[in-house]
Amino acid sequence: MEKRILLSSPTMYGDEQKFIKEAFDTNWVAPLGKNVDELEHVVANYLGVKGALALSSGTAALHLAVKLAGVKAGDIVICSDMTFAATVNPVSYENGTQVFVDSERETWNMNPKALELALKKYGSKVKAVIVVNLYGTPAKLNEIKDLCDKYNVVLIEDAAESLSATYKGRQTGTFGKYNAISFNGNKIITTSGGGMLLSDDEEAIKKAKFWSTQSREPAPWYQHKELGYNYRMSNIVAGIGRGQMLHLDEHKKLKRNIYDRYKQGFEGLPITMNPYLQDSDPNFWLSCMLLDKEVVESGKVTPEIVRLKLEENNIESRPIWKPMHMQPLYAEHDYIIVDGDNVGEDIFARGLCLPSDVKMTVEEQNKVIEIIRGLF
Ligand SMILES: *Cc1c(COP(=O)(O)O)cnc(C)c1O
Repeated sequence: MEKRILLSSPTMYGDEQKFIKEAFDTNWVAPLGKNVDELEHVVANYLGVKGALALSSGTAALHLAVKLAGVKAGDIVICSDMTFAATVNPVSYENGTQVFVDSERETWNMNPKALELALKKYGSKVKAVIVVNLYGTPAKLNEIKDLCDKYNVVLIEDAAESLSATYKGRQTGTFGKYNAISFNGNKIITTSGGGMLLSDDEEAIKKAKFWSTQSREPAPWYQHKELGYNYRMSNIVAGIGRGQMLHLDEHKKLKRNIYDRYKQGFEGLPITMNPYLQDSDPNFWLSCMLLDKEVVESGKVTPEIVRLKLEENNIESRPIWKPMHMQPLYAEHDYIIVDGDNVGEDIFARGLCLPSDVKMTVEEQNKVIEIIRGLF
């Protein structure tokens, strides 16, 4: 059997081990140290944001963002519907209630029109909005931010998948009052597992740091007034991150090439690629295909037929994130769409995430394209 072609896997260079060795040599094998400080510094500089807090996961960053937004029992948080559950679960950690809004066709992200409908419907009960940049494609972030300002709600940006993507020249992960990125194993760069909370509000970052280190009050003994968490990133893990940050822009270029080759390779077929706005520069974390309606409805070629055919050839692909309103966990939650057009369900029914690993060779990618072409 030939080597498996993967969706997106870690790509290491050696710089990572150098920083890990430094941590060992100085015995900073702890959830603090120079690698943690430096990683925060490097990421904050890269994005152009004042405050960064390295954490054990992107989910932890989102949880602290939801806490900073002041979400409490009974509060509504309006969320992107088509996303990974990690975007929206932290709302439940704080006993808030998610209301989901549909995607738009132009970016597959939160439709600002559906957002405004939700903001009007729930009024002062809405505490925050969580917007995702799916697969590394920026949402209409300015419009969404303006709506949040207009209705006086906190914007949280889940940039877990979009590190290095820009919208109108500005880095994603900086549009929200609080922002989260992820360094999970499958993301554009990885620390094996980890994440970061980002904000220009340095006081808020300080508060989040306090919560993330068990909310220890300044006293010789362990003194606690508030509920705390063990969410800090380890200094070993942060060493991997420092090494990976040296290759972020390179990964972005490689991912764009992968996307462009698919787009070209599918010319003439009833397939389009996941779309993006001309004034945005995605990081192309995952390339996704969308089959035309007719071909899916005829049953001749469906995402599942493509997935199984690729699997037969030891090639990994994956369905689009199943929308949250379709998940049993969130079946009771409100879901807002525009003009009766259920975009998220449609994309889920017709889309598929394709291998987008930066180590994939042109020959391997041509094989993926040829197998898919062979189905028509
Ligand atoms: C990966 C991911 C997260 C969670 O990040 P972890 O570091 O795995 O906790 C959150 N939201 C989205 C959209 C993601 O893809």
